[in-house]
Amino acid sequence: MMTPLPSFDHVSDQDLLREVTHLAACEREATSRLIACLAEVDARRLYLGEGCASLFTYCVHVLRLSEHAAYDRIEVARAARRFPVILAQLAAGAVTLTTIRLLAPHLTPENHPVLLAEARHRSRREVEQIVARLHPQPDVLSVVRKLPTPPRPDLAAATAGQVSQGPTTDQSETRRDTVTSTGRSVPPAPAPTRPSVVAPLAPARYKVSFTISADTYAKLQEGQALLRHLIPDGDPAAIFDRALTLLVADCARTKHAATDRPKPGRGTRLGSRHIPAAVRRTVWDRDGGQCAFVSAGGRRCAERGFLEFHHRTPYAKGGDATVENLELRCRRHNGYEAERDLGSWPATRVRETGPVFGTPRTTRFETSLAHDLRQSVGARSSGVVHTRRSTTRASP
Ligand SMILES: [Zn+2]
Repeated sequence: MMTPLPSFDHVSDQDLLREVTHLAACEREATSRLIACLAEVDARRLYLGEGCASLFTYCVHVLRLSEHAAYDRIEVARAARRFPVILAQLAAGAVTLTTIRLLAPHLTPENHPVLLAEARHRSRREVEQIVARLHPQPDVLSVVRKLPTPPRPDLAAATAGQVSQGPTTDQSETRRDTVTSTGRSVPPAPAPTRPSVVAPLAPARYKVSFTISADTYAKLQEGQALLRHLIPDGDPAAIFDRALTLLVADCARTKHAATDRPKPGRGTRLGSRHIPAAVRRTVWDRDGGQCAFVSAGGRRCAERGFLEFHHRTPYAKGGDATVENLELRCRRHNGYEAERDLGSWPATRVRETGPVFGTPRTTRFETSLAHDLRQSVGARSSGVVHTRRSTTRASP
């Protein structure tokens, strides 16, 4: 029989927040104690007597942990045997299983106090940067590989059960088409099974890998040809850097009126929804391109994507598009404050893409690469969008 969810109808928001904070602390404490016990079970090899050949098998099949959870806990348990201070830091929430697992191979009796202090309250990505500094990897070769075409489901079904007669013609073609940017051949690539990757290799060096379409590959080849005098080897990393430099500048110009030559603005027209370019620039710079929502406890939202211009005094209540009345908000916090200020927020909001940003104009970066990326990146991750509310402005 399914256990019903407990009812929270009579629990206040504050009590609910207190309860989850308490439960999270309990969970950290329990995890820390589990890690300590696992370290001792490992040392005594108690899993053997329980019918398991390894601590990992014991964790998965007897303790019913997921494989990922078991792996993390075993790695951290072994690190905690060497450096017991990890247990207290886990219980306090200063470090996580993931960050300790990343750091564990690099901890020594000499460096562990400094490294654990450096990893305190750091995210996985930030700890990956620390690891890249401790154990720098060489740059990777720029490579463009044609991936094998996935088999059509109908053909796969038709050939199911048949003995393989070697690679198909298509696969053979694929494997011949594997070249580096400098023309050297490389081993054939496996079928794509992993998502895009951005990983630090060393201080200020990153490995990036992703899959692109044939159209994007054609644009890359065109870019390589056009830039051959500047980038003779056609290195995709160098092309990528130049494309992103133009794209980011173009998005900044479109989204928050960034410019090296600001013109004197006409100022805010009172009662108008239009946000002058100078106001957008000033608000963006003042808020540092980050959501400026601050909780009652003083925590500022760290979101830098889906940013919108938020009227501190709502437009519907007479707030104007001035620097003093505007702040950046992520979409969630803009909606949250609108709901708080104006009551129920309409589910469907109409986006403004024209007058709010100023007169629509043709951007300078008109290659199709920029166009494609603007549509995806601008709309999904870093765009600043001012929303039109369905409310009407109250008469003064
Ligand atoms: Zn926010």
